[in-house]
Amino acid sequence: MTTKSKQSQRDKSPFHTSRANDWCAGCGDFGILHSLDKILTQMDLSADEVAVFGGIGCSGKTPYYLASYGIHTLHGRVLPFASGAKLANPALTVIAVGGDGDGLSIGAGHLVGSGRRNVDLTYIIFDNGVYGLTKGQASPTLRIGEQTKAMPEPSLLEQTNPIAVGLASGFTWIGRGYAYDTRQLGELIEQAIRHPGSSMLVVLQPCPTYNELHNKEWYGGKDMDTGKPRLYSLQDEDYDPLIPADSAPAMREGKMLQCLQRAYEWGQRIPLGVFYQDLSRPQLSDMLTMRQTGGHVAAPAIQPICDAQGNSLVRLDSVFDTLRV
Ligand code: SF4
Ligand code: MG
Repeated sequence: MTTKSKQSQRDKSPFHTSRANDWCAGCGDFGILHSLDKILTQMDLSADEVAVFGGIGCSGKTPYYLASYGIHTLHGRVLPFASGAKLANPALTVIAVGGDGDGLSIGAGHLVGSGRRNVDLTYIIFDNGVYGLTKGQASPTLRIGEQTKAMPEPSLLEQTNPIAVGLASGFTWIGRGYAYDTRQLGELIEQAIRHPGSSMLVVLQPCPTYNELHNKEWYGGKDMDTGKPRLYSLQDEDYDPLIPADSAPAMREGKMLQCLQRAYEWGQRIPLGVFYQDLSRPQLSDMLTMRQTGGHVAAPAIQPICDAQGNSLVRLDSVFDTLRV
């Protein structure tokens, strides 16, 4: 498809906005944005059925470029916003986006907490190895000894592996895509959205402005020993990520070990695809419903606030009674 026809397809999307985009030319963010836009449209979702929350960083601007509900939130705090929105209005398709610096450094505590809750949302990490918005400092996913163009010296810090952290935190769907392979990325976004629980999709996102080490040419390279492409799909191999709903705990341990092994494969060969999917864990919303005495209590967005005559059902006077000293 030509650039012109891609643009015309995007113009017809219900998520299209004419807001000016200030990402650098060639940035991998465009591949993620276009894949997201295309898949949401193909899933027949309308703009008012989707909420996109952004962290802080270049990727955090994504909510401006999609005409859905959404907020550009606080640094490292995108997941609490997204979780709250989903619990308040379960009918929404909720997507959180943020960079590797945002999610794995200042936001690491919220990332761990979100995995534990298993709220039905999709978290997309734009992984470029740098803090692009603040001019290219090393981010938590840059490896020890690596030095990109804005760094005066090589990194002294060990890498944080986003897939291993996501797994240890309890995310029940974990995948990885590549920003310039929009066909596979779109499929992964759809699977992540359809998974009933917390999904973490890491996207290898070249930053042509500040990370000249992991650029399009490097990702598109080959294993020097075997001549096989550096990027490969787990689903093209005999790799099964699924833990069915009624599985024994021992199966989860085996699948976690399998996922960890692939999470640390990097360099000559880099796996993409679905690393892990656990359908055996309940969602937080189901557990909250079970805990309510007398059955289901409606989520705030669908609780009635007035009767048929338009009279408020909210007893503000009783609130003031409680507050009076
Ligand atoms: Fe993209 Fe990097 Fe430019 Fe940010 S600095 S918009 S990540 S190319
Ligand atoms: Mg980054």
